Amino acid sequence: MENYDVIVVGAGISGMSFAHYAKKANQTVLVLEKSEHLGGSFHSSGIKDPKSNFWFELGAHTCYNSYSNLIEIMEDCGIVSEITPRAKVPFSLLVNNKVKSFVSQINFLEILISIPKAFSKKKEGETVKTYYGSILGKKNFKKVFSALFSAVPSQNADDFPADALFKKRERRKDILKSYTMKNGLESITSAIAKHNDLLVKYGVEIKKIEKQTDGFIIKTNNGDFKSTKLSLCTSVTSAPELIREVFPDLAEKISKIKFQKIESFGVVVPKEATGLKPFAGLVPLDDAFFSAVSRDTIPDENYRGFTFHFKPDILTPKEKIKKICTVLGITEDQIIESHERLNIVPSLRLGHYELVDEIDSLLKEGNLFLSGNYFAGLSIEDCVSRSKTEVERSMKV
Ligand SMILES: Cc1cc2nc3c(=O)[nH]c(=O)nc-3n(C[C@H](O)[C@H](O)[C@H](O)COP(=O)(O)OP(=O)(O)OC[C@H]3O[C@@H](n4cnc5c(N)ncnc54)[C@H](O)[C@@H]3O)c2cc1C
Repeated sequence: MENYDVIVVGAGISGMSFAHYAKKANQTVLVLEKSEHLGGSFHSSGIKDPKSNFWFELGAHTCYNSYSNLIEIMEDCGIVSEITPRAKVPFSLLVNNKVKSFVSQINFLEILISIPKAFSKKKEGETVKTYYGSILGKKNFKKVFSALFSAVPSQNADDFPADALFKKRERRKDILKSYTMKNGLESITSAIAKHNDLLVKYGVEIKKIEKQTDGFIIKTNNGDFKSTKLSLCTSVTSAPELIREVFPDLAEKISKIKFQKIESFGVVVPKEATGLKPFAGLVPLDDAFFSAVSRDTIPDENYRGFTFHFKPDILTPKEKIKKICTVLGITEDQIIESHERLNIVPSLRLGHYELVDEIDSLLKEGNLFLSGNYFAGLSIEDCVSRSKTEVERSMKV
């Protein structure tokens, strides 16, 4: 049976950064991924035109210079030169199918009256709704900011802990403030695999995890594998299912974290098809989607790409196309390609960090390691930082 120091389950940025750090610590690593795709929510979809290298994002789209651990990994992999600035195009609101600026929808008098509270009000223990509703005004929050903030985690963010949505981190002044990569964010996970010469097995269905005195046996549709350490870097919904038999208490705790499904639907159209001015994102005030993210941040000569992040179980694929056509002002036959992806993200609630402490105390001193976007937060850097500290812990066990 193949034997490794570490088996990493899940090839999103959490799993790939875990594998990177483990390789750096001279561990032998095998990555098991259930889909045929490397990168998870890093999904830069290409198009069939052989003369074009047009891509658009079906998941994550932007990195920031405060993502210091991610930047360090990119330095290790020699891809910092691929960092690409995003064109300065606006995020706008969609009101009754018309594009409007945020400013046009805000009641500034209400902000003026409410904003002094920002000096005394603390984010701790407050939800996004109670904190921002208080400092921006309840009516402004309900009308504009609730939808705007919900576009950040692609789900209703009203009940998120206020201190989890926007975090302050130290910045790397030598790196662009916000950026993507020349060939999209997926090139980061691909570069990690290449740089580390990682062995990744795709299409793997894990049938059973067995705990031994000296490690784990992972039984899959693709053979059995043995490892001293096991790292689960899957979505918040998969992790408890995988460990329910071997670590039932841990599985139960993780199952307490709520989650949201996002039906992402991306389309590519000829550049001249839509009359909409270039934009980075569109946020509807009340509609079947949380946001529409565009590729206009990296303008292309021939194409424009748009990914609509739909609320789950509302529209059929046909209805989604109809909605996209209405918003973009195009006809269905102008869509050159469409790609879909189901994203799953955790829905953080007050008390989340206490729950994470309980999960961590159950993990303590064991040889199971957990990473993902349901610990410190959803951002890319939160995932990478969690993987870093888990690998550091794994080297002490
Ligand atoms: C639409 C969207 C836009 C976003 N935009 C941004 C952004 O611009 N900037 C930012 O910082 N963050 C953004 N985020 C958040 C961030 O991208 C994600 O939190 C992060 O990429 C999650 O990475 P992950 O590896 O933890 O999980 P995932 O990317 O979900 O990867 C998990 C992997 O595990 C695999 N897997 C699951 N179960 C199993 C199993 N049983 N066996 C084997 N493999 C399994 C999955 O197939 C997947 O490949 C966005 C998220 C979404 C959904």
